[in-house]
Amino acid sequence: MSDNPFRQLPSVGSLLDLPALRDVSGRHPPEAITAAVRAEVSSLREKLAAGERIEGLDDPAAIAARVIARLDADLVPRLRSVINATGVVLHTNLGRAPLHEDAARAAYEAARGYLNLELDLTTGKRGERQAAVRAGICALTGAESATAVNNCAAATVIVLRAVAVGKEVIVSRGQLIEIGGSFRIPDIMAVSGAVLREVGTTNITRLADYEQAIGPNTAALMRIHTSNYRVRGFTRAVDLPELVALAKKHRLTVVDDVGSGQAVDLAAFGLPGEPLVSAGIAAGADLVLFSGDKLLGGPQSGIIAGRAVLIRAIEKDPLMRAFRLDKMTLAALEATLRLYRDPQAALRTVPALRMLTTPLAELQRRAETVAARLRAVSGVTAAEVRADVAYVGGGSLPDVALPTAVIAVQADGVSEADLADCLRTGTPAVVGRVREGGLWLDLRTVFERQEEELVEAIRLAVSGS
Ligand SMILES: *Cc1c(COP(=O)(O)O)cnc(C)c1O
Repeated sequence: MSDNPFRQLPSVGSLLDLPALRDVSGRHPPEAITAAVRAEVSSLREKLAAGERIEGLDDPAAIAARVIARLDADLVPRLRSVINATGVVLHTNLGRAPLHEDAARAAYEAARGYLNLELDLTTGKRGERQAAVRAGICALTGAESATAVNNCAAATVIVLRAVAVGKEVIVSRGQLIEIGGSFRIPDIMAVSGAVLREVGTTNITRLADYEQAIGPNTAALMRIHTSNYRVRGFTRAVDLPELVALAKKHRLTVVDDVGSGQAVDLAAFGLPGEPLVSAGIAAGADLVLFSGDKLLGGPQSGIIAGRAVLIRAIEKDPLMRAFRLDKMTLAALEATLRLYRDPQAALRTVPALRMLTTPLAELQRRAETVAARLRAVSGVTAAEVRADVAYVGGGSLPDVALPTAVIAVQADGVSEADLADCLRTGTPAVVGRVREGGLWLDLRTVFERQEEELVEAIRLAVSGS
């Protein structure tokens, strides 16, 4: 029977008795060690069953080494901090907006203890959780009332349910956006139970197009900001005030999805073209929606501002229970909104806004300092500051290329792709831009507190590869 290769595999019990595996029992629970040993042995069995040769792989010491590697890999969290050296401020894959310290701390405190989430501390009676953010959103938007849900996609669904279930919502064909992933206006509309009525063409929609589409089953006119693309050339769209006037005439609701949620005007910083969250309410929209984690620079959330009766209807929807914010996000959003009491201070302190408005000269100065330190790292053959452009990201300001300064790093005998791999898989992970002839690091999105770590990460990557 000794020709049966399965019989030659070491048993789980004998492997667990190996000194190497007994040594790791301080670091890993016995259940995890046993599970890892079983997994290694069954992977060898599968190889044998598939007719593969496992020469050397079944050596007990080799198995033990793989078990330990497997166990240690398990200790590394799947979600890890990343130094974002891409220059893309609202990088969706990297978590969009980084929070202000106050907001992060509020979330932390909310997470680790109890709080008056639904308790009115002055009366001792039950309170409402949305109260924490309502006043802050009203102050920001000028709206009569407000609420918040998990993201702008959820906000769109719950708003449409409140104003147009089984009824028509008129939208310009030029505004039928896809935000990425599965956010497509026609699909979201279908999910909500509202009926999409498209009018106009991709490039031209006139007021008359809306007017002609209005019928007995029309409930609302919806304007959607084309956050992540622009239609240029021979184009025409209907301004919000015109839509509002038309809606008034026919007693319809106007919903304005502004998407990226700009609360302080960024046009003076070379970032034109995003609607202000206060503009929709000022123009007479009944409801305005936007994301909390784009240009507002807060936690992931979908903010809804507008008329009190509509907000009440939205909050009564059973879906509110599914869409409502958790205590950590609510605390972070409240803290973020408070920063906007002084809009000029918000520009300087909300991380996303500070990064977006950092002057080029400051980026150049920081890049020169870090580049000089990198040139002193052995193995780094070049670290020079170059001019480049970066985009805002997160489906905001798609046509704005922000001038920036990058550090182009080259290492001895290592391709830029290998260097990028090494940095991406290191601790902390570093993500930059891979370009011909080097890895480009953009400090716009690197916090000053991370510069030391960034240099250290490159030192490790260069010496390791
Ligand atoms: C980003 C965006 C959304 C989706 O927002 P999430 O918060 O990502 O769900 C919806 N509408 C517009 C116009 C947007 O820009």
